[in-house]
Amino acid sequence: MNFDQLNLDPRLMEGVRSAGYATPTPIQAAAIPPALAGNDLIGTAQTGTGKTAAFVLPILQRLLSGPRRRTRALIVTPTRELAEQINATIRALGSASGVRSATIYGGVPMPPQERALRDGVEILVACPGRLLDHIDQGNARLDGIEVLVLDEADRMFDMGFLPAVRRILKQVPAKRQTMLFSATFPPEIEQLAAQALRNPQRVAV
Ligand code: AMP
Repeated sequence: MNFDQLNLDPRLMEGVRSAGYATPTPIQAAAIPPALAGNDLIGTAQTGTGKTAAFVLPILQRLLSGPRRRTRALIVTPTRELAEQINATIRALGSASGVRSATIYGGVPMPPQERALRDGVEILVACPGRLLDHIDQGNARLDGIEVLVLDEADRMFDMGFLPAVRRILKQVPAKRQTMLFSATFPPEIEQLAAQALRNPQRVAV
């Protein structure tokens, strides 16, 4: 398998080249085709497997067409470090795509995040608590979300974030694509997956 076989837009292939990726990792080869087709996905993958690009590339491909400056993709992740890493991957792979993204997490002032939300970004990479703060204050609207990613779901469970994740799920449209990634699947994560995903394909590496 190589990237040419994945039917990615030339602008994304440029991003893949500039990121220095030569061939897709196993999780990318397994996840990108069903994700591009719009399927819900459960990915069993640890950090370091290339799982970030496995969901970022299909998201970018979708966002190349359709409205701009409206929040259409939401990636929920447990820590600010992961949020920044995911955003760096979006920036690298999306450098030729013109897609905008912002990170939302606690421990830093609200106003710069409010400005980014007001200006309009297509992708939000967010930790659950601060995202809910912005929703409660009317800064963030999730009613245009087309793709939702729940990243490192087991860590979000360990950190006590599942109630916040469930509140976020109530804010996103029922008609959407959902991808859930987790290294382990305790019963709480299986339950979350059953609640949040429809006919998911399972991909594991
Ligand atoms: P992740 O598991 O998403 O945190 O990615 C781990 C590392 O692998 C990151 O530094 C990525 O930039 C890198 N990476 C992801 N996909 C590829 C690829 N297809 N070829 C080479 N490196 C990659």
